[in-house]
Amino acid sequence: MKITELMAKQRQMLSFEVFPPKNGTLKENVSQAALEVAKLHPDFISVTYGAGGSTDQYTVWLAKEMQRLGVDVLAHLTCVSMTKDRMDQQIVEMEHAEIENVMALRGDLPQTGEVASDYPHASDLIHELKKHHFCIGAACYPEIHPESNNQKEDIRYLKMKQDAGCDFFTTQMFFDNHLLFNFLYKIREAGITIPVIPGIMPITSKKQISQVMKLSNSSLPQRFKTLVDRYGDSENAMCQAGIAYATEQIIDLYANGIQVVHVYTMNKPAVAAQIKNNLSEIVGLPL
Ligand code: FAD
Repeated sequence: MKITELMAKQRQMLSFEVFPPKNGTLKENVSQAALEVAKLHPDFISVTYGAGGSTDQYTVWLAKEMQRLGVDVLAHLTCVSMTKDRMDQQIVEMEHAEIENVMALRGDLPQTGEVASDYPHASDLIHELKKHHFCIGAACYPEIHPESNNQKEDIRYLKMKQDAGCDFFTTQMFFDNHLLFNFLYKIREAGITIPVIPGIMPITSKKQISQVMKLSNSSLPQRFKTLVDRYGDSENAMCQAGIAYATEQIIDLYANGIQVVHVYTMNKPAVAAQIKNNLSEIVGLPL
């Protein structure tokens, strides 16, 4: 089902994100973990597309496996190094797999900063996808995209994604809900009207933090740093505290009128299960 159709049901929903194996690797372990996450039956599941096309063999394959489990899927697609021919192939592959939802992303720039692509920005990819029948998502950044000079510029380009035909946005992770609420205020003022799905990352170990910060450019509030200072050296305690923190963020988002929350599960079924369990009486409630 299309995510826009799911959202029309007017109830609170939970989605999970997983990643597929990289090309040329043994796919069993990674895909097994991702499928375990899908078996939790979130409202939908998104399957990422590895940097520079490093999972292009497996994104659609894994998405198909998940559809077989009866889960609605959002397949990610990046355009940073795509030619028109290669993009056409990818789109045909997705159509054959009966994928209805596509997350249109530029992808991170290669180390050289040079972009050799027929689609330099996500909005170019959205224009292409719009010629087909996909429900289209795109990324947004409550703490601005690292390449942007300022938030006004970032929001101007975000509006271009809506104008190109994007149906909803999913946010980069953030750890303070006020950042999201401020961001929503600004984008609504700028004429962006489509739904925004907040992305929440449960941080479950101390070593995950530096990697996550580097990848996302997100900031950590003092309240979270205090948890890490206290529990970071105990694996189990940090995991429990990280899940509790993410759960509290999610409940606060729902309580403030957000319809769908997306959880970056990092292919950890136990973490995803715990979060779903913590929300068992909340998810599914009418808006
Ligand atoms: P764009 O929307 O193209 O924006 C990139 C930068 O260019 C921004 O600074 C923007 O302000 C600016 N810009 C946009 N349009 C224009 C324009 N027309 N002219 C000039 N400047 C412009 N990466 C992956 O490799 N695989 C994934 O599966 C993946 N999933 C993600 C899911 C989410 C929810 C998020 C938030 C990010 C994800 N990423 C993924 C990371 C993403 O690819 C990077 O953040 C990338 O650097 C930017 O992608 P974008 O689609 O936001 O790009």
